[in-house]
Amino acid sequence: MRTITMPRGILAVVSHPDDETFGCGGTLALHASGGASVDVLCLSCDPLERRSEIVGAAEELGVHEPMVFEDTSIEYAPGLIRRVSDTIVDLRPKVVVTHAPFDYHREHRAAYEVVKEAVEWAAHTTTYAEPCVVERLLLMEVNTLIPIPHVLVDVSSVMDRKRRAIRRHVSQLAKFRWGYYEEFNEKKAQLRGAQGGCAYAEAFLEEQLPRSGPFYPVKSVSSLL
Ligand SMILES: [Zn+2]
Repeated sequence: MRTITMPRGILAVVSHPDDETFGCGGTLALHASGGASVDVLCLSCDPLERRSEIVGAAEELGVHEPMVFEDTSIEYAPGLIRRVSDTIVDLRPKVVVTHAPFDYHREHRAAYEVVKEAVEWAAHTTTYAEPCVVERLLLMEVNTLIPIPHVLVDVSSVMDRKRRAIRRHVSQLAKFRWGYYEEFNEKKAQLRGAQGGCAYAEAFLEEQLPRSGPFYPVKSVSSLL
């Protein structure tokens, strides 16, 4: 009988190079510094030069070198969903982080749809011999703020790492001469820190995941306690 490997670590699935840093860079750095396995999957990279920026940012955050799909756009389509669910089953993350469904960037909303379905397929015994049941799906804020966060992560101890990672996304920072990304991310972390009783924090929504039924390794539970 084969042993099913238990889920571990965190996987952030993001649309573009920079989303991993702006949305959840502090949280990734925090868990990596604590010894967790932290991976990033970037669903598109256009232009390809941005790949070196996300690799540089990952070095600053202390996470594994990102996996980068070289697609030029993101569509909610079966091929991409399967590539993401295959990655989840390979890496076996305990927590997946991605975009929120109300984000004002169309490709961020598409990534949410893709990742939510991929997390679902990855858990199915009908799809994989060794399915991966992700325990938590967290949705981050990049430029669109979450009205009522479910989870605030204290990233005060790694805020300098996040600042250094932000500065590695040179091509994006150059789009706004008044320092928009640096200032917005600083103030966003302060705002969430004020809510969370700490200096700097990152905010997330948490998505409910179906976990009992014919498709899952656990068919039913005998207690809610
Ligand atoms: Zn993006």
